[in-house]
Amino acid sequence: MLNHSAAIRAALLGLAVGDALGVPVEFLSRVARRQDPVTGMRAFGTHRQPAGTWSDDSSLTFCLAETLARPTGRTAAPDLADFAQRSINWRYNAYWTATGETFDVGNATSTAIGRLQRGIAPTAAGPSSESDNGNGALMRILPLAFHEIWQAENLDLNAAWALTEAVASVTHGHPRSTLGCFLYLLVARSLLIGRSPAAAFLQMRQLANPWLERGSIPAVVEAKYYRQWVLSGTLPDQPESAISSSGYVVDTLEAALWCLLEHDTYAATVLAAVNLGDDTDTTAAVAGGLAGLAYGEAAIPAEWLEVLARRVDIEDLAARLAGA
Ligand SMILES: [Mg+2]
Repeated sequence: MLNHSAAIRAALLGLAVGDALGVPVEFLSRVARRQDPVTGMRAFGTHRQPAGTWSDDSSLTFCLAETLARPTGRTAAPDLADFAQRSINWRYNAYWTATGETFDVGNATSTAIGRLQRGIAPTAAGPSSESDNGNGALMRILPLAFHEIWQAENLDLNAAWALTEAVASVTHGHPRSTLGCFLYLLVARSLLIGRSPAAAFLQMRQLANPWLERGSIPAVVEAKYYRQWVLSGTLPDQPESAISSSGYVVDTLEAALWCLLEHDTYAATVLAAVNLGDDTDTTAAVAGGLAGLAYGEAAIPAEWLEVLARRVDIEDLAARLAGA
């Protein structure tokens, strides 16, 4: 089990490395990856960036980490106005970008940030129709695992849901997206207390399933979309051909957890995620955050960390978040 500050570093670095491995081949198919598997950091490709360049997934994760790193950021209700401002700065002023360039912006996120800039309240900014269930909240939610509510030994699931909903809704207002974030954070929480990936996947279901029976919140309605493999526990039995790696939040959670459960090192987990094709950077970022927590920073190949953009700044952010 990692100590607190080591876990925060491993989560942020693990997520960013996964993102950077996927950036050069984003949108390319699984067939293309079979013929030419990604085995390490590449340069150029889809977004024409140098090796080690991470994208929106990491940028918005770091914006949220900055908000939580402020005084009382991890204990009080999150300052959504602060997170909103940082997101606007990322979108329009290249704040927390890898190379001074904002690229790879999702549709719902782009709409939401436009609304934030026009003064719409953060809780009302995220598009909330059923077709707005991309993975853009899931890809940036991991720092919330370090909030006091998610860290509590006796987890209050209603409070954890409310916190997750508030933060997710800044860009994605539909409860299906929030439920994806919620299940992901349940797995992250178990990894943080030293459980193996398989044990964390089990504990997530043991906590979520009874809570999702009680019928008090929109989560219950959305649970059926996660029932097939995640809430039923049958995900590890699925062949790769059954796993979709699109930008839909349900697909991304399934794909990232599948990679985590099918492999037993950090590198194998994130490379599997990238080589699923399609939304490579986000699948690998979502998987990579969990794999960082599961295996620790020492398990991330040194040659990948060496080229990771702004590594020192990420480590500084992790230290500030740990100290908050
Ligand atoms: Mg991206």
